[in-house]
Amino acid sequence: MRRIRLAHQTDFSGWRDAARQGLLAGSAPEALDWRVEGEDAPDLFAAEDHAAAPIPGAEAPRVPRAFIGLAETVILHRDPGRFALLYRLLWGIQRQPRLLEDASHPDVHLAEQVARAIRRDIHKMHAFVRFREIATPEGEPHFVAWFEPDNFIVEAAAPFFVRRFTGMRWTILTPDRAAAWDGEHLTFAEGARREQAPTSDRVEALWRAYYANIFNPARLKLAAMTREMPKRYWKNLPEAELIGPLTRRATEREDAMVKAGPTRPPAFAAAEARRRPAPAEPVDSGTRPGSLGEAREAAQSCRRCGLWEHATQTVFGEGPERARLMLVGEQPGDREDLAGAPFVGPAGRMLDRALEEAAIPRGEVYVTNAVKHFKFEPRGKFRLHKTPDAPEIAACRWWLESERALVRPELIVALGASAAQALLGKRVIIGRERGQLMSLPDGGRLWITVHPSYLLRLPDEAAKAREYDRFIADLGAAWRLLQGAAQT
Ligand code: SF4
Repeated sequence: MRRIRLAHQTDFSGWRDAARQGLLAGSAPEALDWRVEGEDAPDLFAAEDHAAAPIPGAEAPRVPRAFIGLAETVILHRDPGRFALLYRLLWGIQRQPRLLEDASHPDVHLAEQVARAIRRDIHKMHAFVRFREIATPEGEPHFVAWFEPDNFIVEAAAPFFVRRFTGMRWTILTPDRAAAWDGEHLTFAEGARREQAPTSDRVEALWRAYYANIFNPARLKLAAMTREMPKRYWKNLPEAELIGPLTRRATEREDAMVKAGPTRPPAFAAAEARRRPAPAEPVDSGTRPGSLGEAREAAQSCRRCGLWEHATQTVFGEGPERARLMLVGEQPGDREDLAGAPFVGPAGRMLDRALEEAAIPRGEVYVTNAVKHFKFEPRGKFRLHKTPDAPEIAACRWWLESERALVRPELIVALGASAAQALLGKRVIIGRERGQLMSLPDGGRLWITVHPSYLLRLPDEAAKAREYDRFIADLGAAWRLLQGAAQT
């Protein structure tokens, strides 16, 4: 067995060179022993580390682009077996070029699982790093955070903090690596100890007061909260010490809110909407709104099509004004119609979960619908979803275009056929167009996938799981496209 020594835990170029040599020399996966420098366990049977001679006339190895992306992610995992796993995959690809498309292959499946764990870990780091201010001799504020990721993700996660906190000087300490930004340069250093990070600062009391004020007991879902914010991260979160007392008092506070009564009962909202007189002048007569707030307000009295008449309210898009990614669904559902917010029902929860698994920070995405009013058919006590027709989609495109003009996303993901139709101005077959980058008539960039409600409707659990994985893969690919664009 030949031992390969890599310079450090995330030495991708070292792994790539050694893998290339191994393939050219015809070294089978079981003939190689992958180690990281300085972590060798004594092994009497491993040969000295020397480059194997290539087989004369050996062909250059085949390395698909998809493999590179996957390998760069997988190598960030803490499992020592990841180097061998990647080599087995590459070895397999030489014999079966489309191996990565075989999701049932154990190594492909394992690599996808590992990649997903890495993306989740990066997402958690983005969400749960909390900076604390420290005093510096120069008097300039400097912010330091302590975080314990599961894997070797500091280099991969750090560019997000540069974009988010460009104007701050900060350092993130972890047991494996430290990342520092001085306002101009991002640098990395050896890991640190927890005691080297501050445990509180002067704004923490303010932050806790703010958290206590925005805490809404009526929206408390403890299981979902601990799933989104696992307890092991709590020790670094200033707000965590409030969670226990606030959740214990939640039932009491919720009872008080119920007693106080809703400000506008949903049951009356539709009648109220019907009574609302049509504006004398169309508010959207051609002048584009100057801000999202203005657009949202103007859309409340839209009469461009007949859908406003039976819906409770207009459900406008939500998200950051300068989101790089915009997700467009079809139309609000029953829950969204009552709540006045997009993607808050079952499909929205599935979308949230998929975004998390694809390591896409939900707070950085603008979500909206092609059609802003709920189209339904009353059936007894229920309101059954009805697909908006082409004239309704065309009428509502004015609002979607207004949102696009204001947010100016770098990439739009259409969730389902109605959204794709609204954006492309023509009917689209999702199965044919999904998962590839398309150009919009105005030069925008579009990525198409299914709507999460499609996944909810699938009757067969196996198909549901398979399609859910494809959905995550579509979202992840779109997000990576954006990240790639940011690096170029
Ligand atoms: S669905 Fe769109 S176009 Fe039709 S009334 Fe509502 S906001 Fe206006």
